[in-house]
Amino acid sequence: MATIGIPKSNDDPYIRYKRQLISVKVIKGYTVLTNLDSVCHSIDRPESVIISFLSKTLGTGSNGKDKLRGTFSVSTLETHIENYIINHVLCKTCQNPETYIDKNKIRCKACGFSRSDN
Ligand SMILES: [Zn+2]
Repeated sequence: MATIGIPKSNDDPYIRYKRQLISVKVIKGYTVLTNLDSVCHSIDRPESVIISFLSKTLGTGSNGKDKLRGTFSVSTLETHIENYIINHVLCKTCQNPETYIDKNKIRCKACGFSRSDN
């Protein structure tokens, strides 16, 4: 399974923060994100948050867990997942991906910075 840095633009081979590239399977008109649990674990966000972000961005339905209605390629999904990471995971101050959501704010475990998540 291919892994990439978090964010993808960080190509330091010794980077501590890595995730799997999303992998998909199309079944009966749905795109199943077969390793969304692993990707979500790596960025410390619930699957439900990521699938609802993708469903909203792509303008399609989801099962609230790991399926999107319609057929979407890995490269399309990766573009949006990466956008999510850049805008909703990385700390704006120190660029560290070790952040968490607390009362609609993104808080950074590394430097303590917080900002509202919108
Ligand atoms: Zn920070």
